[in-house]
Amino acid sequence: MKIGILAVQGAFEEHKKLLDKIGVASFEIRKKSDLEQKFDGIILPGGESTVMGKLLRELDMFDTIKSLIDNGMAVFGTCAGLILLANKICNDTNIYFASMDFTAKRNAYGRQLGSFEINSTFADCGEIPMVFIRAPYIERVGDKVEILATVNNKIVAVRQKNCLATAFHPELTDDTTVHKYFISMIK
Ligand code: GLN
Repeated sequence: MKIGILAVQGAFEEHKKLLDKIGVASFEIRKKSDLEQKFDGIILPGGESTVMGKLLRELDMFDTIKSLIDNGMAVFGTCAGLILLANKICNDTNIYFASMDFTAKRNAYGRQLGSFEINSTFADCGEIPMVFIRAPYIERVGDKVEILATVNNKIVAVRQKNCLATAFHPELTDDTTVHKYFISMIK
């Protein structure tokens, strides 16, 4: 088992630390040739979706990653990574991998609630700490999308087949629940 972590921008190192903690090997995806090795899943970290989208195109990795996901490779997007997976963004004209049928709202909590932490239930795993940083939330989900978490009546974690997305950053806590959930999608 080996997970590739997109490492062109944003909070990628923190994902590696959590994967290390649960004994899962990982490597950084920085350039196209990094995608030539054999691996089992991809993490799209938090950061700035517009910057990551631009760099993915400039580094010529966009199409390769999109086809891996479209062909069933497991993917986990956190925060900006969730935006990269949405098939609609209500307040942005960009669209990226469009792998999941939901509408994301960028920077959805406004200025005052820009960053916050809360404990809430994730899937059937009980309560976990959730860290939100200029986070999106999900406004609409299609029928094939399973809702895994809501906070203040807003959807903040979803799954659709091989794709998992959270508006919060589990990698900025030391709770391994969501990473374990992701790995269980692959096994
Ligand atoms: N606001 C960022 C975006 O729209 C996401 C923030 C984050 O990943 N922490 O891409």
